[in-house]
Amino acid sequence: MASKYIFVTGGVTSSLGKGIISASLAKLLQARGFSVTIQKFDPYINIDPGTLNPYEHGECFVTDDGAETDLDLGHYERFLNTPTSQANNVTTGKIYNHVITQERKGAYLGKTVQVVPHITDEIKRRLLLLGQTGEFDIVITEIGGCVGDIESLPFIESVRQLRWELPTNDSVVIHLTLLPYLKAAGELKTKPTQHSVRSLSEAGVQPDILVCRSEHPIPPEMRQKIALFCNVKVNSVIESLDAETIYDVPLLMRKEKLDERVIKKLKLTSKQDLDLDSWKEFLGRLKNPTAEVHIALVGKYVELPDAYKSIIESFIHAGAHNECKVNIHTIQSEHLNCDNVHQHLHHLDGVLVAPGFGARGFEGKLEAIKYVRENKIPFLGICLGMQCAIVEFSRNVLGLAEATSTEMNPNTPHPVIDLMESQKEVTEKGGTMRLGAYICELKKGSRAHAVYGKSRISERHRHRYEFNNKYLAQLEQNGMIASGINPDNNLVEMIELEHHPWFVASQFHPELKSTVQTPHPLFVKFIKAAIHYQRNKNQVLI
Ligand code: GLN
Repeated sequence: MASKYIFVTGGVTSSLGKGIISASLAKLLQARGFSVTIQKFDPYINIDPGTLNPYEHGECFVTDDGAETDLDLGHYERFLNTPTSQANNVTTGKIYNHVITQERKGAYLGKTVQVVPHITDEIKRRLLLLGQTGEFDIVITEIGGCVGDIESLPFIESVRQLRWELPTNDSVVIHLTLLPYLKAAGELKTKPTQHSVRSLSEAGVQPDILVCRSEHPIPPEMRQKIALFCNVKVNSVIESLDAETIYDVPLLMRKEKLDERVIKKLKLTSKQDLDLDSWKEFLGRLKNPTAEVHIALVGKYVELPDAYKSIIESFIHAGAHNECKVNIHTIQSEHLNCDNVHQHLHHLDGVLVAPGFGARGFEGKLEAIKYVRENKIPFLGICLGMQCAIVEFSRNVLGLAEATSTEMNPNTPHPVIDLMESQKEVTEKGGTMRLGAYICELKKGSRAHAVYGKSRISERHRHRYEFNNKYLAQLEQNGMIASGINPDNNLVEMIELEHHPWFVASQFHPELKSTVQTPHPLFVKFIKAAIHYQRNKNQVLI
């Protein structure tokens, strides 16, 4: 069977949650036995978000095959429990880059290269690519940005063309809009939705289904009105109320029969009865915790929680697994110093030191690590967090006062973290880090081995600097163990402390592989350690 295509567009404002709606619909279709993938088309000109500051669009999500992508791909993986790849995130930059490279090669045979048809042809080729692998019954494409934006025009135009080119029942357009609530008038307003659907129609795309974000239930007469003005059936006006957690959204969409409307429009028949049992079980555990812990997230991008999206979601998965509510306390590492670290951390049950780049907030992270190391508070360090743990240990345990990463001081006499050999010649910034999945071998008898319950793991990376193996013997003699090693190049991928109840850090990013169905073991065991720490602490106090 040829793949069916669902296009998800957005109007009225950005940040309506197209990614969550797409992921929720995909979950429902998957629960009916279809194989589904989701791709995101972003209208910005960066080739990928790898060069973006996290303050711009939040975290950069990395796939197994090393693509630096939009954070929505994280939602897709967390909901569907299936990996995405390079092909799942396309930007305007990628499209133009390809077309211009072709033009330079003379591939257009002297023709004038234009937005229509050359750019739109390339967009269409990419829109269909995953469908042509034969792996998926349904491909959902989320078009980033808002209808009416100059930047999204070529994408909308490509959807228009494809709608005509694909067989009649092979595509569906879902448009996500907002029904603002006017407090003074005491009612929801439909006009912005009408205008947004009109802009989409003017571009030649008539949506089949409207998903209307709203803070209040949409009365039946208002659904009628929206249907009338926007040329959709009244049962295709779907209400999307603010949810307690994003993981409720599949069930809310089920209640509104979004999946049924889509299946009907695509002339599909479910492959199985809707099976959401394990999803509901997860929600049950999430909403009925029997324990509660407080965890510090120490980083420098804390003003924008999206910068740590995958970490925050991993805590939700691990919390649910342990039937434990995880309260995350974000701490700006720039503000941490030896005088206030106790005040910030003494009451917490665990500390995570986050990934990051550059010197800002670096010393504060070291203070946090010194504190948890000395006070035996559970610790998880990720990427820069692991590098910080090594620097802190080198300075305060090995006595190498000037030890640091060459990222922070290229002239340090003790470069315990140093640029990888392969990185030394690299000058381009985009896509040149150590990216994607690499194998790691875990030391038998280590905590890491116990956490994973196996010796060989594969985890995702995104960094340029590495632990400098010249210092390995010295570290190990003093109680810091290299518990995970890449067998191909001997790089240290995990460390832990011998004389500490739970002090683990990884050069890779475990948060990129945690899903609802498969919470990441490092997060699961970290939360377990935090619960344990809290219980012991309380016992001592009693
Ligand atoms: N800045 C560090 C490096 O490039 C760590 C990167 C990260 O935390 N993702 O190696």
